[in-house]
Amino acid sequence: MKIALCVKQIPDTNDIRWTENNTMQREGVESIINPYDVYAAELALKIKESHKDVEITAFTMGPMQAQDMLRKLIAIGIDKGVLISDRKFAGADTYATGKTIASAIKTNLPDFDLIICGQFALDGDTAQTGPSIAGNLNIPQVTYVKSFDKVDNKVIVLKRELDDGIETVKAAFPALICVLQDTYEPRRPLINGIKSASKAEIKILNAEDIGLIDTEVGLKGSPTYVSKAYRNLSNHNAQKYELPADESVNLLKTKIEEYCRSEFKKEAENA
Ligand code: FAD
Repeated sequence: MKIALCVKQIPDTNDIRWTENNTMQREGVESIINPYDVYAAELALKIKESHKDVEITAFTMGPMQAQDMLRKLIAIGIDKGVLISDRKFAGADTYATGKTIASAIKTNLPDFDLIICGQFALDGDTAQTGPSIAGNLNIPQVTYVKSFDKVDNKVIVLKRELDDGIETVKAAFPALICVLQDTYEPRRPLINGIKSASKAEIKILNAEDIGLIDTEVGLKGSPTYVSKAYRNLSNHNAQKYELPADESVNLLKTKIEEYCRSEFKKEAENA
């Protein structure tokens, strides 16, 4: 069984910087593996432990420094790492990201059975990338996956966690699943894992390698753009009122109206 694991390196949340295009600067900043992807990797490893002949290839689209994250995954038991990296990918929205990752999987692991993604990335937080990859590859997708029950005869049985309960679903391979965080402690690398990870070869793919042209990737291949990005600075200029409930409601309404008027005015002046 061949599993493609999609992992994203995200900026350490204490160290967010913006580019002049209002996108997040990814190069040269402290980065961590997206926490949901740690659980996606765990689920892939649990499948590997329960079956013979399972090979897991981790794919990430990001800057060259993302190789370190792939090595850390190899140290915990992931078999191979593929870095999808090209200057042309800069500025990709979720549409272009989904297409790029799907093309990398299609060209490098065409006989995959299962693609495993995290449910969300903590920085972008759209939850669109997994479904977009599935759409591009025309395969079924199962989101909000908490755990798997069994894999049998090219069918996986999964537990989905929903607001109103747990759902058990079956998906026939090839399929894509998006995994939620869990409560257990993810595994740590062993010394042998660290040794083999340091020697492992990371495959690096550019746009040409995955058969995409300039207008399909990065900013040029992205139908959305970020018009404004800002840090939500809080000031401590708070005022305290002690009023009866109905007066509190009226005061709150007046304050919100005043705030909205001043924000609209500022936007109109800047337009
Ligand atoms: P989600 O969809 O919330 O992530 C869900 C899961 O998808 C993850 O858990 C992971 O399994 C998988 N996944 C997501 N991203 C990746 C990845 N890169 N590699 C492997 N697996 C992944 N980002 C940049 O890095 N550089 C840019 O220059 C840039 N410019 C942007 C410009 C615009 C206009 C917009 C809208 C976004 C831009 N982004 C850029 C953000 C980029 O589109 C998202 O980071 C990316 O599409 C993933 O979306 P998300 O963070 O919401 O992930």
